[in-house]
Formats: sequence, structure tokens, C-alpha cells
Amino acid sequence: MEDMITVSNSDWLYNCGILGLYNVLTHQNKHEDVILTSDGLKFPLSKFEGFAENYFRYLIDTYEKTFSIYKLVSFKNFLDVHEKGEFKGFDKSSLNRLNSQIEQTKRYIKSNSYVSGYSLFECKFNPLEKEKALKKILLKKKEGIFDRIEDIKLQFNLLREVINFFEEPDTRKYIGGKNAIYSVISNAWTNISFLNRQNTNSDMYEEFESYFLEPIKEYIEDRDGKVQKSKYKCILCNSQIKDLNIDLGFMREIGFDVARKTSHVWDFNNYAALCPTCRLVYACVPAGFTYLYDRGVFVNYSMDLRELKRINTRIRDEILHASENNTVVYRALQKQMDIKSNEKSSFELADVQVVRFRRNKDNINYTFSILSKSMLVTTQKCTVELERIRNTNFSEGNERIYIYNEVMKRLFNNSNQFLFINKLIYYKLTMPDTSNYSMNTVGDILKINVEFLKEAGYMTKGNIDIIGKAKSYGRLLRRSYAMHSGEIAQSINEESNDGGNNRNAAYIKKLNNVAYRMLNALRTGNKYSFIDTLALAHMYSQIEIPGIFTDYLDDDMKFKNVGYAFITGMLGNDRYMDNNQKANGGGISHE
Ligand SMILES: [Zn+2]
Repeated sequence: MEDMITVSNSDWLYNCGILGLYNVLTHQNKHEDVILTSDGLKFPLSKFEGFAENYFRYLIDTYEKTFSIYKLVSFKNFLDVHEKGEFKGFDKSSLNRLNSQIEQTKRYIKSNSYVSGYSLFECKFNPLEKEKALKKILLKKKEGIFDRIEDIKLQFNLLREVINFFEEPDTRKYIGGKNAIYSVISNAWTNISFLNRQNTNSDMYEEFESYFLEPIKEYIEDRDGKVQKSKYKCILCNSQIKDLNIDLGFMREIGFDVARKTSHVWDFNNYAALCPTCRLVYACVPAGFTYLYDRGVFVNYSMDLRELKRINTRIRDEILHASENNTVVYRALQKQMDIKSNEKSSFELADVQVVRFRRNKDNINYTFSILSKSMLVTTQKCTVELERIRNTNFSEGNERIYIYNEVMKRLFNNSNQFLFINKLIYYKLTMPDTSNYSMNTVGDILKINVEFLKEAGYMTKGNIDIIGKAKSYGRLLRRSYAMHSGEIAQSINEESNDGGNNRNAAYIKKLNNVAYRMLNALRTGNKYSFIDTLALAHMYSQIEIPGIFTDYLDDDMKFKNVGYAFITGMLGNDRYMDNNQKANGGGISHE
């Protein structure tokens, strides 16, 4: 009988590797004999034939559109359009696109990782020679596009040749393979096999085979030899191993660096070694995780690996086929959560672990959360609010931050949104031009926050719309300020036209100052300072202080919610955002 390989479920990282192994074995291959059960994966040893090829093929087919090679090849459409149209629509902006593509192509062609790939396969085409011939076309003064049309056509032909080269199966296999190493595989592991810098063989296929597969074959053949007599066991599957040479040190961040770190457990056992099969499972982690550039996600459900596969496959397809990137990871998770909570299965939430990955240059980190009922119910009840905030964002440093992601992140971490709300209002006051959201966005987050706090048991449930009520008191104060300052005519006029608030109106400045003081009070949890500011502002405009605040003095959460809602009403203008949202599909708005 043929030798069978069996791997069984364990912690999230190992499960992720099992899924990766399953994906590799079944990708474009017959796989009746690859059997995934609720707690393991089983397949004949012969499935390891050509494993390296399958491993890379899976990663290249799955992630190609995020690779640099795709940036070169996908320019074909541009070339086609202009050649078919005989360059009739080719204008200055087309020339700019052509030039930036030439620049990018040159950069990739001579990059170290590409150059080291060319020698791995035979080809008559010399990309480095073409690189020299590729040249940007810079128009001289008085020159028009059509004075240089022959040069442009020449560059088109060169780019076409380069594209043809990168589309050849061998180029795709090796250069695509290099892309896979640096943009996917190295997210999970490093330092060994083809990621070992001291390595002299740059053929990653050979390296993968000799490093990961050969030892498994030797190990299986040697079962009756040295291994039997050994006292060592694999920490994962408990099978006997002949020595302690294989450890988890190659996994980034989550492995045990045996040389540096020794926790109590490993001290006690004195070793943390693996069998070669378990090492291969870990090497397959990149094929189990779903990555999108510098982010990634994996959902662990160790109760049933088939269910784990189903969820992660749906997430992967959702993320990699989406047309927009910025909020797609959380969006895919939100969708799966909706599906799950509608299914009547024996699905236990506490068993679902969400692992989020983030890479920032050379640093990577994982964040873990357990799905909770409160977040599930919250995302379901707040589908509309979550959809509305999806396109809103602001800048921080050089980064563009997507509000939807931030809100979801906090829900996943089971934390409230108060500090984030505080920041959003503050940014809107101090940096309105880079804050692409309105006070209604903040209002939506407040609603989400209230739902979450209720579900999580931090706030008593009830039907009173405290947010709406507090907001209307805020609006009332705003109108009183406008009236009091004699700018009422102007203010009403604005509201009925486009509702945009005149940032320079004196009463707006006064209200902004009130808002600063209130934000500070709420941030530091000083309820009495908030009430003081509130009282002063109401005295100034000679209206009654709303009782809602004193009612909630003994409830921190409610107080903060109504406090922030009051500020959004005081600063915001609903009508404007509503119209604007309709006009551009919930998009960016400057209030
Ligand atoms: Zn093992």
C-alpha cells in the first residue's frame, strides 16, 4: 500500500499551513485522493511529486494581479487601444502615461530580483538590452505629439516586445516566482531555503524541493532506522525525529527563536523541534493566508477544517476580485459574518479567531480577535451606517486613513469608538480640508458605538433615541447662536441654498471654541467641565439647558454618547451631507 501523509489540526498558524497545503495540492490538479476532514488532511505521498511547481503556480495564479510583473504586462491594453485607433486620440496625457510606464518598466527590468531570475531559464530575448533602448519621449518647445510620432511608435514596439517576453510561460514561472517570494511568501517566513541570503542556487524551484521535500522522503524511508531509536519528538505531531535540527525559527514573528528566546515551556523540554512534514506545513502558510499588498487576513476555525476552508476561500475570492482595495479586507470579513449569523449552524462564535496581518516595510505584525456576538449583531444592525462611512477618510502624516477600517478594527478589538470620535471631530475643526467626511459620518459612528455598547452590556438597552435627541439639542444651540449674533438671515439663507456653513461667520468661531472645550472635557472624562461649558453656552444664547445631560451624569457611556452627539449637532449640518451623499454615492464630502 502506498504511504499516506496525515496532518492534524492544531493552532491557527498550523491550520493556516494545512489550508495552504490543501490549496497547493488541489490547485488545477486532480485531487480525489486529497481528503480534508473536520480535523485533518490526508493524501498519498505521491502527491509530493512536482510540489514546488504546484506551490508557486498556486501563488502566481492567485496573486498575479498584485505583482509587479502584472504592472508591465497589463499595459498591453493601452498599446492596443492606441494602435487600433491609429494614434488619433493620443494626446499629452497619453504621452505622460507612456513615459511613466517606460520609467517603471526600466526600473523593474534591471531590478536585482528580476536580473537574478533571467539566468534561470533559456531565452533568446535580452531584456537588459531592451531596457537600454527604452527611452522616455520629452517634447521640446514648439514640438507637438505628431512631430515625434515615429519615436512613440518605436517605444510602443519595444514595450510590446517586453510584454511578450514577460508573458512567456518560463518568464512567468521564474519572474512571477520571484514576485511571489518577495510579495507573498516573505510575509510569512524568511531566512531559509530560497530566502536564505547565503544561498548560491538562485533557482527557487530546486531550492524548495531540496530543502522541504527531500527531507520528507528521507524521513519516511528512514522510519525503521535512526528515527526509531531517537528520543526526540516533533512538538507538533509528536512523531519521532532523529535530531533537533528543524525548528520554527523561520516563521516571522510567531515562531520561536530558539537561539534568543526560551520560554518556560521550552526550557522545560529543552527543545522545540519539528519533523520535516510539519515544516512543510508551515512553509505553506503563505498559501493559506489571504494577502492584499501589506495587509492580510485569516479566519481560524479549528472545530472543522472544512468550514475553515469554506470561509477563507470566500474571503480570498472576495478580496482578490474586488475592484477597490482600501476597505476590502474588513468588508470581506463583514460579509462573511453576515452570512454566518444568518446560517442556522452549530457554529460557535467563541471558536472563530480572526487573525489580521499588517506589514510596514520590514516589520510585520499579527492582531488576533475572537468573534463576539456583540460585534456580529452590531455590524448587522448597522449595515446602513457602515456602508455610508465606507468612502470617508482623512490624512494623517503621509497616510490616508479609511474611517470604515478604523471603526471595524475597534469592533474587532471589542473596544468602543469614543477616542476615535473625539479625534474625528477635532480633525474636522482643525484640518477641514484633509478630512473627507462630515459630522453625519461621526453621527453614524455614534450609532454604531451605541449599538455595540448595548450589545456588549455596557449600556442598558432601550428604545429612546438618545443620539438623535442630543443632536437636536446641539442644532438648537447652533441656531440660537446664529440668532443671537444677528447672523440669522445669512445662516438661514445658507441652509436653504447649499447648507454649507460659512466658516468665517463669527458665531461659528464661537461654537468651535465651545466644541474644543467640550471635546477636551469628554476626552479626559470630566463630566462637570462639560456641563460647565454647556451651561455657559446656553446662558450666552439665553436658552434652557437640556436635561438629558444631568440625567446621564451617573452613566459614563451614555454621557459620552450624548455629549458627542450634541457636538455633532452643534457643528454639523445634516441637509448638506444628505444631498451630497446622494450626488456622489456616499462619497467624499467637504462640509
Ligand atoms: Zn511533525
